[in-house]
Parts: sequence; C-alpha cells; structure tokens
Amino acid sequence: MMIKSHPGEGLLYQYAAGDVSAAMAIVVGTHVDMCKACRRTVCDIEQKLCEDNLDTIVNVASNAMTKAQCDQMLEAIFESSVCSKLENEPNETLYLEGRCFTLPRTLAHNSHRIGEWSKLVGKLWRAPLTLDNGNQTNLIYMAPSAKVPEHTHKGQEATLVLDGVFNDERDEYRDGDFVLLDPSKTHTPETREQDCLTLATLDDPLHFTSGISRLLNPFSSLFFRA
Ligand SMILES: [Zn+2]
Repeated sequence: MMIKSHPGEGLLYQYAAGDVSAAMAIVVGTHVDMCKACRRTVCDIEQKLCEDNLDTIVNVASNAMTKAQCDQMLEAIFESSVCSKLENEPNETLYLEGRCFTLPRTLAHNSHRIGEWSKLVGKLWRAPLTLDNGNQTNLIYMAPSAKVPEHTHKGQEATLVLDGVFNDERDEYRDGDFVLLDPSKTHTPETREQDCLTLATLDDPLHFTSGISRLLNPFSSLFFRA
C-alpha cells in the first residue's frame, strides 16, 4: 500500500537539521521509518548538510592536525553517518484492546517513554509519550466506529497513522500517512469498520467547536496533556 501523505520537504529539512521540537521529531522520524521515499530524501539532505559543513571541519582540522590524522577523522565521521545504520533495528510490540501492534524503529526506541493508556470519551484511548524536555506526543487509539468531536487547535497538529485507517472531511488516511493540520481548520476524525492507531503531536489543547462536544472543552487538556 502506497503512502500518499508525507511531510513537506521544508519540514524534512528542518527535521534533518535538528530544527524541530522533540515531539515533532518523533512523529516525523516515525514516518521516515515507515516511508522509503522520505527516508531517501532525508538521507540526501543529511549528506548535503554534511558536505556543507565539511569545508569548515577540514579547515579547522588542517590547521591543527597532520594529513593522516585528518583523513582518519573524516573516515570516522563518514562511518558513523546516519544513512548507514537505518535498517535492521529490532521492533517492539504494543498490546491494546486485544490487538498487537508492531512499533516502527523510532517508537520502539522510545517505548519506555509510553505512559499508561487511559480511556477518553467513547471509543478513544490515549497514552502519553513524554520526552526529556517535557515535550509530549500521544498515541491515540480509535476503536472501530469511533469519532473525535469536531475541533480546531491553536497550534499545529501532526498526526501519523501507525496502523489502520481513519477519515476526516477531507480524505482517508492509512498506514504511514502523515497529516499536518492547519490551526484554522476544523476537522472530525473518525473510524469506520476498522480501528486505527495514530501518533499525534499538538502544541495547544483541542478546542471543540460543535454541539454538545463544546461541553468537553474544559476537559480538552486531558487529550493532550499528561
Ligand atoms: Zn514519506
């Protein structure tokens, strides 16, 4: 199955340069694990960033080292390049609601940070994934026929489908799809026959906009805060 929704090249560049929040890095990184095309793009960007910085490194080094020392150092740098160690990492599994999910590499490496699952409204479950600097992303599990009430957010919301399928007003999203939602847009994610496990990051709490779910607003911070 082809992944059809990817992070933009600007975001991939920021990710490769280490210029995104820890929460965004984990969502983009997990997409990159799942997506061959973006993995290639990130590799190309990293190589370019490396080459751009190389002249500086060589200049500094050549003033302080012999040629042999310099060559040895450069060889060590290239051997440790990220591109060479992308594959063959162990996967970890996650059990929830009688289902067993395989976590992509980035998530598997951060599985010790995944907190307790708690049931939100209806058929929605959430587990926080807390990063070192207090940054947080969330695993959200939607059982079949679940619906997140219509909402907007003050911040940017990035959602990655880890397993399954969900729909909103605009499209259908499946394994590996990365969706970046503009703060001004409202949306109503829902599942149909199939369940869906996603990883989502959000800068600010949800703001519910429709009907009775407006009453949830005082609790909206429960969705995206520990
Ligand atoms: Zn991609």
